Amino acid sequence: MRPSARHIARDAGEARPLVNRERLLAEFLRLVQIDSPSYQERELADRIRNLLAEIGLTVFEDQTASKINGQAGNLYARWPGTVAGPAILFCVHLDTVEPGRRIKPVIRGGAVYSDGRTILGADDKAGIAAVIEALRVVRERNLATPPVELIFTVAEEQGLVGAKHLDPELINASCGFVLDSDGPPGKIIVRAPSQDRIVVTVRGRAAHAGINPEEGINAIQAAARGIARLRLGRIDEETTANIGVIQGGLATNIVPEKVTVYGETRSLDDRKRAAVTQEIIRLFNEEVENAGGQVECEVEDLYPSFRLEPDHRVVQMAMRAAFRVGLAPRLAHSGGGSDANILNALGVPTANLSCGMQKVHSTGEFILIEDLVKSTELVLEIMKA
Ligand SMILES: [Zn+2]
Repeated sequence: MRPSARHIARDAGEARPLVNRERLLAEFLRLVQIDSPSYQERELADRIRNLLAEIGLTVFEDQTASKINGQAGNLYARWPGTVAGPAILFCVHLDTVEPGRRIKPVIRGGAVYSDGRTILGADDKAGIAAVIEALRVVRERNLATPPVELIFTVAEEQGLVGAKHLDPELINASCGFVLDSDGPPGKIIVRAPSQDRIVVTVRGRAAHAGINPEEGINAIQAAARGIARLRLGRIDEETTANIGVIQGGLATNIVPEKVTVYGETRSLDDRKRAAVTQEIIRLFNEEVENAGGQVECEVEDLYPSFRLEPDHRVVQMAMRAAFRVGLAPRLAHSGGGSDANILNALGVPTANLSCGMQKVHSTGEFILIEDLVKSTELVLEIMKA
């Protein structure tokens, strides 16, 4: 018989009060009040370094700051543990999106919000607070754990920039958990798409709109014909495409010479993504050439997809730990990339776990305090695995 989540939670009841709710909430509130927009993570990185050193971890900062022209590099930390065996990795990101400066957290009805002017920054400070509290508990209770590795990345919100500069030589873990998915804890992201960024430059010919329009080639119209033929939005269950920005033209009395169109494709299946990207390029080429113009397409492969089977050890670890803290685990697909995409590509099987944050990237962002606690219990339970 498969035991119910509640049944297991009762059996493992003594694991639950270990997390110090007040300390966890206080740390979370302090963290969100430290400004850390992408590339400006210095103050937060220093705070985290001090916290980790106090707990007794060794911390190393890599050279990413100078490579990406940011204030801070990725932080790597290691807890030696007491149980021999392969290390477990937890990865969170330091940076936040805008508007994310001078955040004033407000507690209302068992949840933490911003004051409405900014985001809250639970993305990803809920994850940071969870790993720090879990390690504090491990140390103060002398809990038996295998070695635990931590990575705090920078500029994640700018396209996993910090993670792309991680040094695989510094990662010894055999599996990992990114804490960077939204929604109540218990969700385990086992598949996430790859993404192409597409920049199409359409060139026509400028002419005076009133005097000699017949000598012009209207780049806006040519681009529009291309766009009109594209399949956009949800292509199939695994694949999406979007045109998000269009820039061009100088004045109403000039036949526009140049338009730049920015779009993206994503798919859980890399071949499908590549096919949709190729289709977009082909249709722009056809339509713009018909109009007598020229096209230039740039495709940037932003990140690779990943897929973990439900019976994979890392997925099983997360599921078992979720049951033990009374959560019903839910395997899910994501529509976006995270540092887990990069870690999987580096050969560290890594799942992305939800950690309570909701309505992220908006001024309505919030987190239920109970979800913050639950997520921390889950992290602690995985560490004890
Ligand atoms: Zn995030």
